[in-house]
Amino acid sequence: SGRLISGDQRDEDGVDSKLRPQDLSEFVGQAKLRENLAVFIEAARKRGEALDHVLFVGPPGLGKTTLAQIVSRELGVNFRATSGPVIAKAGDLAALLTNLEERDVLFIDEIHRLNPAVEEILYPAMEDFQLDLIIGEGPAARSVRIDLAKFTLVGATTRAGLLTTPLRDRFGIPLRLQFYTVEELELIVKRSGRVMGAPIADDGANEIARRARGTPRIAGRLVRRVRDFASVLGAETITRAIADKALLALEVDQAGLDAMDNRYLNLLAMNFGGGPVGIETIAAALSEPRDAIEDIIEPYLLTQGFLNRTPRGRMLTAHAFKHLGLAVPSSTPP
Ligand code: ADP
Repeated sequence: SGRLISGDQRDEDGVDSKLRPQDLSEFVGQAKLRENLAVFIEAARKRGEALDHVLFVGPPGLGKTTLAQIVSRELGVNFRATSGPVIAKAGDLAALLTNLEERDVLFIDEIHRLNPAVEEILYPAMEDFQLDLIIGEGPAARSVRIDLAKFTLVGATTRAGLLTTPLRDRFGIPLRLQFYTVEELELIVKRSGRVMGAPIADDGANEIARRARGTPRIAGRLVRRVRDFASVLGAETITRAIADKALLALEVDQAGLDAMDNRYLNLLAMNFGGGPVGIETIAAALSEPRDAIEDIIEPYLLTQGFLNRTPRGRMLTAHAFKHLGLAVPSSTPP
C-alpha cells in the first residue's frame, strides 16, 4: 500500500539497516521500558541464564523489531526472526526451535497471527523447553519429546488483547511501547538526515518530527521524501518551509494526519454526525480491514484527542470537528 504508515518493513533506499539503533544507549525514547529492559538483561547476563520471554506491544513502526535485535546483541546471543503468519505448520516451528542454541533470541513478529496448532506446541517449548511431537500416522503414530535449548522468545504484537490468554501468560516480561514525543522524533529525524547525508535545519527537523504521527518509521520515510523534494528544488538544507511544502504535497496535514486519517475523520463527521459509530460500520464504509483501523489509524487519533471510544461506538471530539473546519454539533463531547 502507498500509505506512509503501512506495516511494510522493507529496507527503503537501502539505508534502513544503517538507521537502526544498534544498542540500548543509541535507542531514543521509551525511557521507562529501556530502564526495565536493561535491568532484566543485566540480571540474566550475570546469572548466565536465558532472559525471560519478552512481549513487545504497540502500533507498527515504534521499534519492536529494533528492540528485539538490541536484546540479542546485549545478551551476546544469536538472533533468529520469523513472523506468525509465516509459520504454517507445527513442523516449521519445531525446525526453528530445535536449531536454537542456549540463550538465543527467537523473534516472532505478529505473534497473534500464529495458527492454533502451532501455538499449541509453543506452550511447552516456552514453559519447559520441551517439544512434544507426533511422529507417524494412524495406529503407528507415537509421540516423542525433544529437549530444547533454554532460549528467549521475543514476541511482538500490535495489541495484547489479540493474544490468547495462555500465550500472553507465558511472557514473563510484557512491555508496552508508547508513541514518541516531538523532541524524541527530532533526534531521530536529525540522525536520519546525517546518515543520508541530507542536512536538516533545527526548524526543518521540528516540522518533520511534529508531523510524523509519533512514529519513528514514519519519521524516517518523511525524511526520505522531504530530501527528494529538497534536491529537486535545489535546496541544500531542509528548512521548515521546504519540509512544509513537501509534507503538504504528501498529503500530511498541519496536524500530522495523513490522507487516511482525514478520510476516517471525514467519514465520521459527514456521514454519521460525529458518531457514535461501530467499528464494523467504519471498516465497511472505508473498505479497510477492521484490524488495520484498530491497530494503525485509531491509536494515534485517540492519543491526539480526535476520537473517543465509547461503549456505543467511536465518537469524534470537538477538536476533530475544528480540525476539519466544521461547526461542532451540540451533541459532541468536549
Ligand atoms: P516495529 O517492529 O515496531 O514495527 P521497527 O523496529 O521495525 O518497528 O522500527 C521501524 C523503523 O523505525 C526502523 O527503521 C527503525 O530503525 C526505526 N526506529 C524505531 N525505533 C527507533 C528509535 N527509538 N530510534 C531510532 N530509530 C528507530
